[in-house]
Amino acid sequence: MRIAAEKHVNIIGAGLAGALLAVLLARRGLAVTLYERRPDPRQARPERGRSINLALAARGIHALERAGVMERVRPLMIAMRGRMVHERSGACALQPYGQREHEVIYSVGRADLNRVLIDEALGHPQVTLRFNQQCTGVDARGNRLRLRDTVSGSEHELDLAPAIATDGAGSAVRASLAAAGLTTVREQWLDHDYKELTVPPAAGRPALDTHALHIWPRGGFMLIALPNTDASFTATLFLARAGARGFAALDSAAAVAKFFATQFPDAVPLLPRLAEEFAQHPQGQLGTVHTAPWQVGGKVLLLGDAAHAIVPFHGQGMNAAFEDCRVLDELLERHEDWGALFGEFERTRRPNTEAIAQMALENYIEMRDTVLDARFVRLKGLAMTLERRFPDRFIPRYSMVMFHPEITYAEALRRGALQAQLLEQLDPGEGAAAGAAPDLDRAEKLIRERLPPIG
Ligand SMILES: Cc1cc2nc3c(=O)[nH]c(=O)nc-3n(C[C@H](O)[C@H](O)[C@H](O)COP(=O)(O)OP(=O)(O)OC[C@H]3O[C@@H](n4cnc5c(N)ncnc54)[C@H](O)[C@@H]3O)c2cc1C
Repeated sequence: MRIAAEKHVNIIGAGLAGALLAVLLARRGLAVTLYERRPDPRQARPERGRSINLALAARGIHALERAGVMERVRPLMIAMRGRMVHERSGACALQPYGQREHEVIYSVGRADLNRVLIDEALGHPQVTLRFNQQCTGVDARGNRLRLRDTVSGSEHELDLAPAIATDGAGSAVRASLAAAGLTTVREQWLDHDYKELTVPPAAGRPALDTHALHIWPRGGFMLIALPNTDASFTATLFLARAGARGFAALDSAAAVAKFFATQFPDAVPLLPRLAEEFAQHPQGQLGTVHTAPWQVGGKVLLLGDAAHAIVPFHGQGMNAAFEDCRVLDELLERHEDWGALFGEFERTRRPNTEAIAQMALENYIEMRDTVLDARFVRLKGLAMTLERRFPDRFIPRYSMVMFHPEITYAEALRRGALQAQLLEQLDPGEGAAAGAAPDLDRAEKLIRERLPPIG
């Protein structure tokens, strides 16, 4: 199907990726119809059970800039300079994310961001948004898109192609392609779930340092908190589903109170509605979705979480979904038909989304277990020193992922592994005097041997 001949695109799901993609495609002159299961979020209350705020980083920002929406997104953003690590003793210390002024990540409210993107999309006359339209499946061979009106309950069908499915981690489009044998799906569920809680302002002021992502790492589980623009924070408990130290054991208000008093004593005064919220708020599941292929013959493409949902521990699911949108938009310049476009999109993106899926899983261990480790802190310091000294060859992996959209996720993973070996070799060890300078001559020799210049 030629792009020049078919200038209309269906997008299924007007979440973060779907709404941004609509803006990008509309700017190219394509007519877009978005089908969204929920009511218009600019009028309705946000759906419960979704993460309330998210970390936005350079890859996401790069895509938002390309779509020309950053000016409207900026007021929603709160800079977080680093991880504020809260120990059980109550001691806390900031571990900066980067070492340059702009190397920060941003907390942004999901609902507000989605509202801005939907509003921007609707500012383009060639975008039509149909709310309360739930996709119940697609028939790619027969070129049909099946929809159910969630208000009237009526069902109807439309021509499918070309369509882009951005209907999220639980994608109905992906499920129906899999059921028809057109794709295979592997879902890798984590045995840890999450629950969100509220840290309200104290006497009208934020109860914690606003410019940090707070973590209470406890070895095997953790509590985190991200700031909101109304001076509250959203805290999230990540914990095993089963076992004596899991959600299953927190089956009464007394058990919850005891668990928090023991594990997070300094957080208890910050959570005045702990018992009530713990009982009422949903317990969310987390997992990684591997799908192949993502597209069927230029008729339908899975994008964002629908293609490659990941666990949230690197704060990159939305950023990766936004990067998908940017890459698809760039590839549109080079392709004349949807089949070739979707095919190249998948070839370009899959190695990168597989890489971030792996790094996101690894980051859970880092956040909940190793951030308190003296060796971790030492190697992080060494990595920062090497970056200052050899900025064209050595950038800590976390920084490559969060601050360097010009370095692909796959390249960050590959270089990160080489750098980790190098750090092992250069580690002065526990015995070395605190603050001892690393052997920079040896570091330079090893770096020149093993790490070619970036880019
Ligand atoms: C606890 C948690 C914390 C997270 N933190 C971060 C973070 O800090 N940083 C980050 O980058 N990412 C984070 N993520 C990941 C991020 O939420 C997702 O990667 C991102 O939302 C993906 O965008 P999407 O548009 O692909 O899917 P979604 O945002 O899920 O949007 C899907 C849309 O499709 C609609 N829809 C669903 N089914 C249908 C249907 N059948 N028919 C029509 N419409 C449908 C939905 O209503 C929704 O509007 C987090 C995720 C979780 C669970």
